[in-house]
Amino acid sequence: MPTLRYINRQNQWEEKTFARTIYIGTEPRAETAETESLQLPPDPYMSAEHALVTRSELTLKPVLVDLCGCDTRVNGVPIQQLKVLHHGNAIYLGKTSLFFSEIRIIKLKEDSGHCPLCGDPLLAGEEAIVCPRYPSILHSECWFSTRKCPDAGCEYPNYDVIMDSLGAYPWHIRFERALPFDSPLIQQGLSCSANQVRDFVPFQRNEAVVYCPGKLLHPCNISYHLQCWLEMAKCPNCGYEIREVLTTTFGSRE
Ligand SMILES: [Zn+2]
Ligand SMILES: [Zn+2]
Ligand SMILES: [Zn+2]
Ligand SMILES: [Zn+2]
Repeated sequence: MPTLRYINRQNQWEEKTFARTIYIGTEPRAETAETESLQLPPDPYMSAEHALVTRSELTLKPVLVDLCGCDTRVNGVPIQQLKVLHHGNAIYLGKTSLFFSEIRIIKLKEDSGHCPLCGDPLLAGEEAIVCPRYPSILHSECWFSTRKCPDAGCEYPNYDVIMDSLGAYPWHIRFERALPFDSPLIQQGLSCSANQVRDFVPFQRNEAVVYCPGKLLHPCNISYHLQCWLEMAKCPNCGYEIREVLTTTFGSRE
């Protein structure tokens, strides 16, 4: 889920996450199912509707669009109408700055200390994710295996971000963030279909569950623990390409 950090009217840092498209300016804009709005403190160099950030339909990359032909820069460089954004970019609209962050899988260029989750070293060439809240680095496998960032005081909601990202355009995958006690999965004593050791125990209250969005002749719809699902390359029942969806959404595995 892309996030913009900025300084609000109370002169404090604030975070705004958005699903698909967000308009940024000094005037509020009516929000719709497709678009959100971010109103920033008055700035004589900023327009009522200054810019927007949206996700390219083709590449799924976040793009900054200048709507007013005025002062719009990324990392200090003026943009020509459009600019693909990357995690960590600084956006300047007039005198106001915003920081764009997003979860991306990166390939480590050098050894980078130890992973705060598993304690193993982070080696050059390994895939990793930088937590967007504090710049700590986790193995990407470790990042996807934990509900929240393990750094003390960080609590970045990894699972919520995964479910927000994959539940939105273009995947629209169905999740259960915390199974309620009266869920049919619990009432019928069903188990996760991943056949992991943890799956000898049937579904429990508050577990995060995903319903497979794949289709063979019929919708697959099999239920898995979110954690089990993230560990599999494909759905064993219908062949849905889980790894590919994660790669497209969060970054490359070359
Ligand atoms: Zn690790
Ligand atoms: Zn963190
Ligand atoms: Zn499972
Ligand atoms: Zn399936």
